[in-house]
Amino acid sequence: MNASSMNVDLDQERLRKHLGPELYRHSLGVAETALELAERYGADKRRAYLAGLVHDYAKNLSAERLLALASHFGLPIDRITRAEPRLLHAPVGAALLPLEMKITDAAVLNAIACHTTGSSRMSLLARIVYLADVIEPSRDYPGVERLRQEAFQDLTGALLAAVENTIGSVLARGLLLHPRSVSFRNQLLLEKRMIGG
Ligand code: FE
Ligand code: FE
Repeated sequence: MNASSMNVDLDQERLRKHLGPELYRHSLGVAETALELAERYGADKRRAYLAGLVHDYAKNLSAERLLALASHFGLPIDRITRAEPRLLHAPVGAALLPLEMKITDAAVLNAIACHTTGSSRMSLLARIVYLADVIEPSRDYPGVERLRQEAFQDLTGALLAAVENTIGSVLARGLLLHPRSVSFRNQLLLEKRMIGG
């Protein structure tokens, strides 16, 4: 499946300029991977592709700008987020996209808003975008190949491995860990136990 196979109503050239080459390539990878996961798990393919394309729309903004925009949009800024403002690129992106890229689909915007920390209440679409973000083809880290395979066999298991991986790297780098990542991890573990995994 290639990028042109999914016709989304979006100015891709404008997006490419906004993101820059590296982030645009990552975004195309997330879009393609999200599309494949949507196909596998019965989510809306067009929404998955679109969400993947624009999920990092606010990623290049500075910490100061992210904080300013978050307060402009009335987004909650907890003390972890205040100390790690880059976490805001997800919700700030979701707030900017209706204004700057005419994306108003609430399901797509919700998926984008929680793609960095995860949360205990995520739609199938949001889960797909979260996972696609960490397994898209340009990602390269120990275990990514195994995670790519698991993603198409056991969505909950792969998400659990992905969030535990992220939490591990946050701890290893001495960063603050957002409680929403912990809730997401616990939610997935509870689901896994319920289905006897
Ligand atoms: Fe991101
Ligand atoms: Fe990303």
